[in-house]
Amino acid sequence: KKQHEKFSLIMAKSGGGSEYDFIFKVVLIGDSSVGKSNLLLRFTRNEFRLDTQSTIGVEFAYKQIIIEGKKIKTQVWDTAGQERFKTVIPQFYRGSEGALAVFDLTKPESFEHINTWIEELHRHTPADIPIVLVGNKSDLVDQRKVSQDQAKDLAQRLKVSYMETSALNASNVEQAFITLVKSIFYKKIPKSV
Ligand code: GDP
Ligand code: MG
Repeated sequence: KKQHEKFSLIMAKSGGGSEYDFIFKVVLIGDSSVGKSNLLLRFTRNEFRLDTQSTIGVEFAYKQIIIEGKKIKTQVWDTAGQERFKTVIPQFYRGSEGALAVFDLTKPESFEHINTWIEELHRHTPADIPIVLVGNKSDLVDQRKVSQDQAKDLAQRLKVSYMETSALNASNVEQAFITLVKSIFYKKIPKSV
């Protein structure tokens, strides 16, 4: 727990003229090929690839977000193919403060497996960790197999937000990450309403 707090509240200002108020680690979880690597690429580099499995070896990438004037460095971790074995090494989850739980709107199995991924997440992180449920590939309208109602029901049961994205079209990708980062931020610094 202590370790976790320490990691998250790195106040980068200590050195004087420096860059960030916060660094948050967030993880992408979900079945293989739902689009996790492309969501990361879209968000951090505004790129998209057809063949990420062979081209992506990176474990994480950074993106800066500003919320209420605070500079937040978001470190986004990708499973880098490990999820094919239905589990990911503990280091992946260590110190993470939020998760995007991703499924493919055209693959019902990937939706059914969300519970399992969230259970695994909870074995490594505090129970109140912010999560956004993400239905990806919203561009494949004709191939859609998971309805918005089904997904919203699950999100309600899990008490998380739900968003539909397309890494291909860059639709809602930034919003999904920002929704997650905002929940992390406001958990630490409650809104002074
Ligand atoms: P990962 O295994 O979860 O990291 O998934 P990838 O990012 O490697 O994507 C798997 C495949 O789905 C690749 O061929 C991607 O090009 C494709 N893909 C990812 N996101 C989208 C999307 O939003 N729309 C469509 N049509 N294809 C996508
Ligand atoms: Mg991947």
